Amino acid sequence: MKRTIFNEDHNAFRESCRTFVDRTLRPHHEKRMANHEFGREMWLELGKQGLLGLNVPEAYGGAGVGDLRFSLILAEELSRLALAYPSCVGIHTNCIAPYLVDLGTEEQKQRWLPRFCTGELITALAMTEASGGSDLAALKSRAVRDGDDWILNGSKTFITNGASADLVLVAARTTPERGAKGITLFAVEAGMQGFERGRKLDKVGQPEADTSELFFDEVRVPSANVIGEVDHGFVYMMQRLVAERIGSAVNNIAHARQILEETLDYVKERTAFGTPIGSFQANKFKLAELQTLADVTQTFVDQCVMEAVLGTLTAADAAKAKWWSAQAQNDILDACVQLWGGYGYMSEYRVARAWADARVAKIWAGSNEIMKELIGRDLGL
Ligand SMILES: Cc1cc2nc3c(=O)[nH]c(=O)nc-3n(C[C@H](O)[C@H](O)[C@H](O)COP(=O)(O)OP(=O)(O)OC[C@H]3O[C@@H](n4cnc5c(N)ncnc54)[C@H](O)[C@@H]3O)c2cc1C
Repeated sequence: MKRTIFNEDHNAFRESCRTFVDRTLRPHHEKRMANHEFGREMWLELGKQGLLGLNVPEAYGGAGVGDLRFSLILAEELSRLALAYPSCVGIHTNCIAPYLVDLGTEEQKQRWLPRFCTGELITALAMTEASGGSDLAALKSRAVRDGDDWILNGSKTFITNGASADLVLVAARTTPERGAKGITLFAVEAGMQGFERGRKLDKVGQPEADTSELFFDEVRVPSANVIGEVDHGFVYMMQRLVAERIGSAVNNIAHARQILEETLDYVKERTAFGTPIGSFQANKFKLAELQTLADVTQTFVDQCVMEAVLGTLTAADAAKAKWWSAQAQNDILDACVQLWGGYGYMSEYRVARAWADARVAKIWAGSNEIMKELIGRDLGL
């Protein structure tokens, strides 16, 4: 089905992203999976192409592109390679950039954004703690004022880009008695005394992502590293989770469509009982259902993208796009594994890896249950 939300500039940009992914990123994909990290060189390559600062103003080294669709096109092209790419790059470009651009002081922007755009400064967002991620307002990390500084204690887990990040936005409780209204965001920099990384976590999928635990033991963070207003962190996070969720939805459906495309090629070639397996009615009908699911999902996600471009996307609609696309992605990939037969279960096959990579889409950035909770509340329930 023809997508209607892109113009010629978008299409040309997509072509250049696709070429970049195929020529520069794809050749080193296996190495990244084996090393359990992307490596600094990937970030520098993205920076050299001007892809890390699309939504950062030119004054700070970015491209100053106001149209969110360009960032999402990049994410779609990265999704075609593997889901970890748009997830890890997206945390940097689509999640952290808005915090620094919208909330950063002039001094902070000058200090961080130019290197953010070149890939010399990799970033991460640390909200989740071992005691719970869904109930963000219950986080336990604590920061206490000490003169002009803050003393940060606590830990975070499951942090994307956690092992490699040079700058981590950390949510910590600053006024405990105020609950959600007592949380502040701090920019913790690599090398600050007391800031340690745990191991890279051994995940079911996305091996190339260096998801890690982070520990903060009496870390002295200067006031100059507070992001936005003290005690406003929870509101900032809630406001920006809408963009994170539509970004996830875009990645989810792009990832599923790529593997579905590869599966369609496979079922035309693979034979059983002297016939291509795709021509058995059971499989033909299954593929018809999957293609319909992919097209219907894409249409809703595209509509949400346009709402986001116009600034009218609601939290409830972003939640619908996120949970639905994650479910559709998982359903499509599970069916694709089945169509590849035994090969679908072999880690060396893209379909198997994609299936494992996708499982987390129903859990992270707000689980499917939490998305439905938000939608239910919007219904007045
Ligand atoms: C690979 C990976 C990368 C991640 N990257 C980041 C990152 O960069 N930064 C970051 O801060 N976090 C990150 N996360 C954390 C992620 O956002 C959390 O795992 C997620 O929010 C769920 O939190 P939890 O794991 O503590 O599960 P819990 O909150 O303990 O939930 C467990 C289960 O209970 C369900 N549940 C909870 N509350 C309700 C409710 N009210 N109604 C119904 N069901 C409910 C949940 O849906 C879930 O199924 C990442 C996680 C993973 C796995």
